[in-house]
Amino acid sequence: MSGGHAAVAASLEEVRERIARAAERAARNPGDVRLVAVTKGVDVSRIEAAIAAGVTDIGENRVQEARGKHAQVRSVATWHLVGHLQTNKAAQAAALFDAVHSVDGERVARALAERRPAEREPLAALIEVELTGQPGRSGVTEDGAERLVRVVVGLPGIHLMGLMTIAPKVDAPEQARPAFIRLKHLRDRLEQACGWPLPELSMGMSDDFEVAVEEGATMVRIGRTIFSSAPAGRQAP
Ligand SMILES: *Cc1c(COP(=O)(O)O)cnc(C)c1O
Repeated sequence: MSGGHAAVAASLEEVRERIARAAERAARNPGDVRLVAVTKGVDVSRIEAAIAAGVTDIGENRVQEARGKHAQVRSVATWHLVGHLQTNKAAQAAALFDAVHSVDGERVARALAERRPAEREPLAALIEVELTGQPGRSGVTEDGAERLVRVVVGLPGIHLMGLMTIAPKVDAPEQARPAFIRLKHLRDRLEQACGWPLPELSMGMSDDFEVAVEEGATMVRIGRTIFSSAPAGRQAP
C-alpha cells in the first residue's frame, strides 16, 4: 500500500474516533451516524483505498465527475449526490446514485422521480434547506420546505428520508451549532405537519462535523479531513 493509501486509512480512523466521541458526549450511539466520504477531486485509487479501509458511503458533488468514477470503482459502495443538481442532469443522477441530498425544488424532484429506473429501489432523497441567507447558495428556504416535503412524499420512484443543510462559513465550529439546531427543529415540525417520518439529518462537514453529531446528525459529509491531510501527530515536522 502506498503512503497515500495508508494516510487515508489513518485519517479515517481518526475521523471515526472523533465522531464516536462527539456521539458519546450527546449520549448518542456512534453507530447511528453514517460517515459519507466526500470524494470530489479524489482519484479512483484513493476511493478504493477508503472503501478497503471500511468506507461504505461515497459522496460526490457533481454528476459528471461521479459518472466517470462510478464506472471505474470496482468495490461496492452506496453513492450519494451531495452537491447541487440541475434538472437537466436529473436522469443521469437518478440512474447513478443511491441517494440525493440536494433536492431543492419541485422540478428537480419530479425529474428524479420520473427518471428513476423502474427496476431500482426508490431513490433515497433529502431536501436541502438553506438557513444562512447568504447569496448564491442553493436549497429551499425554511418557509418553503413544507410545500416541497408534501410534493416529494407524493412522488413514486423517490423516498423522502430527511433534510440536509450546509452550515454557514464560520471561524469556529461552535458558531455552526445554531444552524444544526434549526435544521433539527424544522425536521421535528415538518414531521408533525406532514405526518411523514424524516429520520435522516445530513449535516456536518470537515470543519463542523463534531458539533453536527452533538446536535443529531445521522449523516456527516466529510472530504478534506479524510483525503487531504495527514492525521494530527503524523504530519512531517
Ligand atoms: C465538498 C462537500 C462536502 C465535504 O466538505 P469538506 O469540507 O471537504 O469536508 C460536504 N458537503 C458538500 C455538499 C460538499 O460539496
